[in-house]
Amino acid sequence: MKMNKKAIHKISYGVYIVSSKMNGKINGQIANTVFQITSEPPTVAISINKENLTHEYILKSRVFSVSVIGKSAPMSIIGQFGFKSGRQIDKFQGIKYKTAITGAPIILDYTIAYLDCEVLSATDVGTHTVFIGKIVDCDILNDEEPMTYAYYHEVKGGKSPKTAPTFIKEDIKEEQGKEQEKSEKYTCKICGYIYDPDKGDPENGVKPGTPFEELPDSWVCPVCGAPKSEFEKT
Ligand code: FE
Repeated sequence: MKMNKKAIHKISYGVYIVSSKMNGKINGQIANTVFQITSEPPTVAISINKENLTHEYILKSRVFSVSVIGKSAPMSIIGQFGFKSGRQIDKFQGIKYKTAITGAPIILDYTIAYLDCEVLSATDVGTHTVFIGKIVDCDILNDEEPMTYAYYHEVKGGKSPKTAPTFIKEDIKEEQGKEQEKSEKYTCKICGYIYDPDKGDPENGVKPGTPFEELPDSWVCPVCGAPKSEFEKT
């Protein structure tokens, strides 16, 4: 019996930056799985891929923070924290942040609320670890609406990085098959972002209706920063 994994996509998620610290260093990553477990004491669960540097930091320091991203956040912040590795770059370079009580960083740009947590337990789930954290501090930074994972996908044209819990290989193939009918779309080979000429890239000054070929050579993938040469016809 073949499972219809699209059913899993009917679960709602948000867009968060989960951060942690280790030996005086900080790192953070995009996560879509953050949810409240109990209210007394307030606890939340997060699911983090073992390959990610933030995973190592959380395991060692036993603390993490959650920055809840607002709807108006640009693709670039998601690219910075979602498609790059803290092993190669300092993700906090040029990012406004503050240090929470636990020592984990809270992103201040585009964050509408934050949670600061101490790890109560960690459960090994194969590729990921589910961490349950007790909230030791939290606050609202502004009253903008939170970005949902569905909004990010539909409006912003985002894709899941391969290390996200919601990444499903078959679905990417299926989606790409559908896109083939319209040959003008181009896909970033690094992050899977699809350039749609109908939408353009207004966040970076590219008007809707601009064909891929007419994008300036200086244009880069709005998600991961890859150059035009890293794109292929979808
Ligand atoms: Fe990209």
